[in-house]
Amino acid sequence: MSVKAWFPTLIYYAPLMRSGLARFNAELLKECYQVRDFDEAGQKWSRKSYPGGYTSYGSMCHLNEFSSTFAELEKRIRRHVLKYAAELDMDLEGKTIRMTDCWVNIMPNRVTHGLHLHPLSFISGTYYVRTPPNCSAIKFEDPRLSSFMAAPPKKSGAREENQQFVRYPAKAGRLVLFESWLRHEVPANPSNSDRVSISFNYDWS
Ligand code: FE
Repeated sequence: MSVKAWFPTLIYYAPLMRSGLARFNAELLKECYQVRDFDEAGQKWSRKSYPGGYTSYGSMCHLNEFSSTFAELEKRIRRHVLKYAAELDMDLEGKTIRMTDCWVNIMPNRVTHGLHLHPLSFISGTYYVRTPPNCSAIKFEDPRLSSFMAAPPKKSGAREENQQFVRYPAKAGRLVLFESWLRHEVPANPSNSDRVSISFNYDWS
């Protein structure tokens, strides 16, 4: 018998840096709240599109060009994106990759971020800045879900790679990268404290 997995969906998960994390994250966290307090347009946008929480996605979404701390984050993320693209066997020879968007997400208790993907990009990801114990994970959906039609349900003990959803814990200092077409969501935050992350998109040319 020969059974082999084809067309895998790769998700990258790694610590951003080896040392100096606490200081770097403290600075990022401070700036995330500064952005929120300064960004009235974003607060207004969030009231409608991100109820109970704050995101700068609709207003200040180029934070990597806005402050040296975010620019430093971009510099640190880049090497991970290149590693991930190499794992995907993407041919980037003679091409340039660019962080096109970079925004803050602050999710207090019970705030949720529904299923979505990241249009006009090829690699996207999230970096976790503040993750109280018990805060929500990021949940990815099997991209073939709509093709299963008549398939029977999976066994309760199905192998990890055969399950239809996968969760990665939100952990301060960790970075998660995925291909931008992969749908994901953040379920309601059960923690009583803010979950703070920075999301971003990459484009190539
Ligand atoms: Fe997302």
